[in-house]
Amino acid sequence: MAAPLPPLDPTVARGWLAVALEEARAGAAAGGVPIGAALIGGDGEVLGRGHNRRVQDDDPSVHAETAAFRAAGRQRSYRGTTMVTTLSPCWYCSGLVRQFGISRLVIGEARTFSGGHDWLAEHGVEVVVLDDPACAELMGDFIATHPHLWHEDIGTDEQDAGGRA
Ligand SMILES: [Zn+2]
Repeated sequence: MAAPLPPLDPTVARGWLAVALEEARAGAAAGGVPIGAALIGGDGEVLGRGHNRRVQDDDPSVHAETAAFRAAGRQRSYRGTTMVTTLSPCWYCSGLVRQFGISRLVIGEARTFSGGHDWLAEHGVEVVVLDDPACAELMGDFIATHPHLWHEDIGTDEQDAGGRA
């Protein structure tokens, strides 16, 4: 299928992640779910960036990845683009990556939540998990302090997940 992407420089990947993390922190500062993302073009430019706005917009469909994707506007092709996100993408956002043929996915961390990134890798998306401590700490703190909101966001029952009611 598509030609392989040029090798990803880890320093470049960290720079992209910093954009996503800045978005996640902005979300946290506004009382929202602290997940951020950016869509990166083939030349490394930021096409769009955003964060989860479930709380802020009262809209469960505004995830970090969908916000970044929409901020980027219409792109002729997503070949060669990279979605960078602070947290492993849920199924909804994994579906977005596959639907639009985004070539690469860079993930801050997949410790606190593991979504569809293995599935994307199986379908030819280049997946890079940076296992970034700052991302994991931000998410871990949020889950500990906002369990209701977290379980609402990932669509699970707190009781089933062993959380408190
Ligand atoms: Zn999502």
